[in-house]
Amino acid sequence: MSDDCIFCSIVAGDIPARTVRETDDVLAFLDANPLSRGHALVIPKSHAQHVGDLDDDLAGELFAVVTDLVPHIGSTVGADGANVGINDGEAAGQEVPHVHVHVIPRFEGDGGAPLHAVGGERPDLSDDELDAVAEAIAE
Ligand code: AMP
Ligand code: ZN
Repeated sequence: MSDDCIFCSIVAGDIPARTVRETDDVLAFLDANPLSRGHALVIPKSHAQHVGDLDDDLAGELFAVVTDLVPHIGSTVGADGANVGINDGEAAGQEVPHVHVHVIPRFEGDGGAPLHAVGGERPDLSDDELDAVAEAIAE
């Protein structure tokens, strides 16, 4: 638990939230400023800022709740699809420094954009450069 973390305060019950799912180590609640009807956040109950900080068991439980909730929320609100994503780090737009998976139901013609829209200017990488990036990551 982090003292000045709003999501830790939700887990502790000090701040109200519209809970939609709870397991031993994971909590899901509606986003207070939803991008669409049913927009939910799925979080580990323990404090961690980055996905890379989660151990495998917790990451698995987190993703299991996500995969269960996505179709459930979708059928509940009558969505046609969903965007599922994490803003990991300030540079990626993370405002609350406690890992949270956004589940954003999407509707035909809702005027939104795909996840591809989150990127900045696209790099112009040659095949060789792509090969080098892949090799470096795979090492
Ligand atoms: P991010 O930019 O990925 O850190 O997103 C943080 C999200 O948390 C935003 O979509 C906010 O609307 C949401 N949020 C912030 N405070 C609360 C709260 N008390 N209850 C529910 N959602 C919240
Ligand atoms: Zn926290």
